[in-house]
Formats: sequence, structure tokens, C-alpha cells
Amino acid sequence: MSLDPAELANLRVLEGVDLDHIRGLLDRCPVVSLAPGEVLLTMGRPNAVMYMILAGRMSVHLEGGTSSDPVAFIEAGQTVGELSVLDASPASAHVIAAEPTRLVVVDHALFWNLVDASHDFSINLLMLLAQRLRANNTTVSTNIRLQREYKRNAMVDALTGIYNRRWLEDALPRFVNRFSRGDQPLALLMLDVDHFKRINDEHGHPAGDAVLVTVAHTLRGAVRPTDHLARYGGEEFAVILPDTGPRAARGVAERLRTAVKLTPIRDVSGKLLPSVTISIGGALLQPGVTTATSLMAAADASLYASKQSGRDRVTL
Ligand code: GH3
Ligand code: MG
Ligand code: MG
Repeated sequence: MSLDPAELANLRVLEGVDLDHIRGLLDRCPVVSLAPGEVLLTMGRPNAVMYMILAGRMSVHLEGGTSSDPVAFIEAGQTVGELSVLDASPASAHVIAAEPTRLVVVDHALFWNLVDASHDFSINLLMLLAQRLRANNTTVSTNIRLQREYKRNAMVDALTGIYNRRWLEDALPRFVNRFSRGDQPLALLMLDVDHFKRINDEHGHPAGDAVLVTVAHTLRGAVRPTDHLARYGGEEFAVILPDTGPRAARGVAERLRTAVKLTPIRDVSGKLLPSVTISIGGALLQPGVTTATSLMAAADASLYASKQSGRDRVTL
């Protein structure tokens, strides 16, 4: 069957190509028709054929297979499969007909004949590959950006915007390692809002959330830029104080306790809520407390002591 020159003119890979010159080669390329859903390429399977899409549309699918959502469409005028012909690699995706589609089949031998016969065909191929590379690079950088964002989100508490427990569990051992080697001290504070359950019970969970947000922001405003604040869980917070000895740590803890106590708290509608107090327990790296786990345990024990002795106080 002879190919219709008007249809061929729409193929980007033949743009500017002297069709009469390659007529003999093109006439040896069969044209196939695919019904919607018919599979052209299967991911991972060898492919030695380039297809030029005369009419219709193909969809591209990745790991999920042909029933998964398409990641892209290939429209009439474009080509499929040329990469695997060029480097003899298996198909990198599943490609199926998204609608009734007609394709020119250019097998391996004819493909290289076309490359030999037409400089313009080769240039077009190079341009298509360059565009595809660029698109892939954009995809890769988008993926890297998304990955960074996911990683950040995984380390940040959604309610308060400060670091979360995962971050603390990741970061604290690194601080402990670093500071246990030198002479510099390292302190850890654990903070817990007093009688927080009452706020939820008396004013509702959203009011409780508003308290947590206010407390977190107050704490963040009251620590030094070199200190690290995290929400450990529920109404519990932790502060890592690098380079801080017992006296200074006690000073920071008192400052945090006072700041929270003096901060007015409003719910989302602006209604004033009762102020809250926090209990704080602190610990320092020292002989016998040399790991993140033991530092946490020591700070927790101090916090428990603050609660037991009446709340709204610091034990360190
Ligand atoms: P204590 O002074 O002994 O610390 O008493 P408490 O009431 O603060 O402590 P308790 O552990 O009994 O209660 C903590 C409450 O915190 C219970 C839980 O429902 C609530 N809570 C935990 N996470 C959240 C949250 O994200 N939002 C809200 N609104 N409440 C939370
Ligand atoms: Mg509490
Ligand atoms: Mg608690």
C-alpha cells in the first residue's frame, strides 16, 4: 500500500525530508491499525521497530501496567520506539492505543536505511531525542524537588510547623555523637503542657490545637537560633541545646516556662482561652548519660519529677 503524502507531511520526523528521495524505502513500511486498548509495546520487552503515528493517539504506562493511569500520551505526528531501535534496549514503558490509531511500521533495517538515505531524517531524529532528553531532565529535577519536599514534610509537624518526633530521633543521636567527642556540653529539655486534656475536654479539640500552635510558636520565639525545637508528640516538646551547660540550660528552661505562661492564647475564632503552663525536665550529656536514648530517658525522668512536684516548673 502506498502512503498518502498528506498524512506523511504531518510526521515530525519527516519534516523537511525529500519524500520522493525516500519513497522506495517508505513504500516498504507496512501500515497497521490498532483498536483502543491494543498493546504496541510492553515495558521491558525487546523492541526493534520505530512507529510513526499517522492518526489517533497512544497512551504510555509505567510500572502499574496498561490498566494504570497513563503517564503521557503520544499524539499523531509523533514517533514511538526509536530509542530502542537506536540502542537496542527493551521498551521503557507500556504503550497502548488510546483510540483507533494508524501507524507506519519502520523496522530496524529500514530505520537505518532511512538514516543513511536522508540527512534531514537524521537531523529530525536528533532534534526529537534532544527534546526528549530535556523533558526527562525536567522530570528528574521535578522529582528531586518533590523528593526534597516529601522529606521535609516527613520531618515537620503539620499542625505547628516545627520539627517532629522523626526529626528528633534522627537528629539527636547525631548531636550526641558530635558533642560527646569534644568538651562542649549538650543539653536536652523535654516540655509537657500541664493539664492539657482539660482544654480539649472543656473547649474542644480545635481549641486544644490552637493551644499547641501558640505554645510551639512561643517556644520557637524564645529559643536561640542555634537551639532546635521539636514536637515530640501530643502536647510534648523537646529542645536540643548545643553548647549549653547546666546553668545556661536552666536559664533557657525558665525563660521558656515563663514565656508560655505569659502568652495569651486565642482559638481560631479569636476567643481568648485560659493561658497554659508547661512542666520542663532537662538533662545533660555526662558520664553515665552518653547516648541519645539515655539522654532522653534522663530528661523524661526530670520532667516526671516536675509533674510530681506540682507542675509549672523546671527540673534539671
Ligand atoms: P499533665 O499535666 O499530667 O501533662 O496532664 P495532661 O492532661 O496534659 O496529660 P495527658 O497525657 O493526660 O493528656 C494529653 C492530652 O493531649 C490527651 C490527648 O487527647 C491530647 N492530645 C494529643 N495530641 C493532640 C493534638 O494534636 N491536638 C489536641 N487538641 N489534643 C491532643
Ligand atoms: Mg500534659
Ligand atoms: Mg503528655
